[in-house]
Amino acid sequence: MRFNLLGILIGCAISSLAASLSLFISINIGKNTIPSLGIILTIILTIALHSIVTPLIYRKFRMKPLFLPTCPYCHSKDKLYYSLAKQPSWPTEEVICAYCSHKLELQYEVLKSKCGHKKGVVRLQLLWPQSWGRWKQLDPIVLSTSERK
Ligand SMILES: [Zn+2]
Repeated sequence: MRFNLLGILIGCAISSLAASLSLFISINIGKNTIPSLGIILTIILTIALHSIVTPLIYRKFRMKPLFLPTCPYCHSKDKLYYSLAKQPSWPTEEVICAYCSHKLELQYEVLKSKCGHKKGVVRLQLLWPQSWGRWKQLDPIVLSTSERK
């Protein structure tokens, strides 16, 4: 899991907005409602706003998600990668697993064509919500003859 200050600030802002909205709704509904309505409404609004608003922010500002994918070759839980690009690249990034040294291509957006895809490099696509980090493996793993033994 990757933590950065900007991600934490975005999460706090979304949660504060959800709490403010639930307070506004609770006050306008009336005082004779369920006492825990504000808390339940805050939780529901926080989840809804995180699911809807944060993916838009993460895509707009090209931020990496909280969770990087598990390496399909070695299944290392540390998810430590080295980037091959000298400058940040978007919407695709080639990385190398720090444990098994296999090259992967991370796609932060849905691409319609395979343009620029190198054969033999496994592509992993980021799914909704893009701020969280759910990944889908697009290519099967093909091991070379020396790796099969
Ligand atoms: Zn690996």
